[in-house]
Amino acid sequence: MADTQQDTFVNLILKLLSNEEPLDTIYKNLIEFFEERNPGAICSILFLDKNKKRFEKVYAPSLPAFYNEAIPHLDIGSSAGSCGTAAYLGKRVIVEDIQNDPLWTQYRDLAKAANLASCWSQPIKLPSGEVLGTFAIYHTIQHKPSERHIQIIEQAADLVSIVLQHFETKRMVKLAQERIALSEADLVYAQHVAQLGSWKWEAKTDTVHWSKEIYNILNLDPNTPPLPFVEQSKLYTEESWNRLKAAVEHAMATGGSYEVDLEGRASSQGPRWFVARGEVTEQDSEGHPTRLAGTLQDNTEQKLLEHNLKSALNARDEFIAVATHELKTPLTTLQLSLHVIAKSLDGVIDKEKILSKIEKVKQQGDRLEALIKNLLDVTSIGAGHMRLELKPNVNFSNLVENVIKKYEDEITKSGSSLIKNIEPDITGVWDDFRLEQIVTNLISNAIKYGDGKPIEIHLRRYHQNALLEIHDQGIGIPENKQKKIFERFERAVSETSYKGLGLGLWIVKEIVTALKGKVWVASALNKGSVFSVELPIQ
Ligand code: ADP
Repeated sequence: MADTQQDTFVNLILKLLSNEEPLDTIYKNLIEFFEERNPGAICSILFLDKNKKRFEKVYAPSLPAFYNEAIPHLDIGSSAGSCGTAAYLGKRVIVEDIQNDPLWTQYRDLAKAANLASCWSQPIKLPSGEVLGTFAIYHTIQHKPSERHIQIIEQAADLVSIVLQHFETKRMVKLAQERIALSEADLVYAQHVAQLGSWKWEAKTDTVHWSKEIYNILNLDPNTPPLPFVEQSKLYTEESWNRLKAAVEHAMATGGSYEVDLEGRASSQGPRWFVARGEVTEQDSEGHPTRLAGTLQDNTEQKLLEHNLKSALNARDEFIAVATHELKTPLTTLQLSLHVIAKSLDGVIDKEKILSKIEKVKQQGDRLEALIKNLLDVTSIGAGHMRLELKPNVNFSNLVENVIKKYEDEITKSGSSLIKNIEPDITGVWDDFRLEQIVTNLISNAIKYGDGKPIEIHLRRYHQNALLEIHDQGIGIPENKQKKIFERFERAVSETSYKGLGLGLWIVKEIVTALKGKVWVASALNKGSVFSVELPIQ
């Protein structure tokens, strides 16, 4: 190749590279170009396998197919034809007469069949010296290369190496880009799962960068620019914002870091909490911060948990206080009555008076028993042991009548009157002890909260169910409490005006649910309430 030929050659390669042609096309073009301009020359480019034992890739369009197919089966070595030897030694090998050269002894016949008489081979190397393959020129006549020829094959081998390196670099860049994209996706995912976004602030350009999760956390459109720091005041309560501002200013002045708990401004999403962390990550030579970076984390769930835990603890303490009081009151009355009985046994025995006192003792005993049963239920039902003892032919109608009988005195004493409407002999497969608990709790509530007004109790069949309704015309329940009162320890009245543990309705609901029924209330404040229980008969 003359210099101009060399230049056009390089230009051709550059053009092919910039067109992003595949490697095969580039080598094919390179060989065609070279053979066209050097009549009689036949080119081949061979590449070694990764063990550097054999050639695995052959580009030699002008050599016969049988010849090219034989090459990958031959080991390279110290006398393995021109290319096998050149690759093995990492040195150029010039063979002017194949038939009479010792390097070709093994392959002489193969060359003859392909009509090849001379072969000059130049190793293709990386700058490190590692051999990748060979660039070779064959002739069909014995041929001795000129100095110019030598120069040409050296340059051609260099070009092949450069092209390969270019492709390798491109491959590595693509791989690196893919890895970066993957780790970016991982980061976005991790931030999303942790509900933790990251941000960066560059002082020089006063630019802020927010990760996608920050937009998620703050519920802002990710296509809008990040809020400048001063505008972030609108995100938090005034008190939180002031703390954040002070913490950031302190970190800027000292080159330190901060961690601040923030409460979000009231929004339709309900209360929100965040943890903001940040630190100076770069300073100029005078110690002025040039970069700040940090995170913003959504802390709402944890705060709510803390809040619930605190109120559960408060509820527990309140419950213990009320329970103690509730247990003590009947006990005091009971002891007092016993004392009176004991005393009256000393003097003239007034049988009537003693019997009435004993009756009182019995009543207080019953009240204590009911209280203790409820308390025991809280622990056992709360731990998931709602045990039902189902029996056939439980007569719900009789059961309701019996409970009413027990409460007749109390109803009279409260000033209420009773209207009952009990369809007889509604029988089913139920747990009578638990049924009695339902009725007892609802009737005693109607008396307690009934304000001395009439109480109505209805029991009837309704489709395949038994329907129990207990009406009172008492204090009623505010609308926003009507669901809550069925929860454990929940009450809609103050402790001072009405005593109670807030357990009765919860127990009723647990039993009804276990019996696959429903319980609900309809109520109006100061007008009264209707509690309904529907239980499947089967
Ligand atoms: P307790 O009566 O011991 O407080 P309950 O679980 O039986 O516990 O009732 C929970 C709350 O529901 C009561 O504190 C009261 O505020 C309300 N409540 C229950 N029954 C009635 C009723 N018949 N009328 C008005 N309020 C009621």
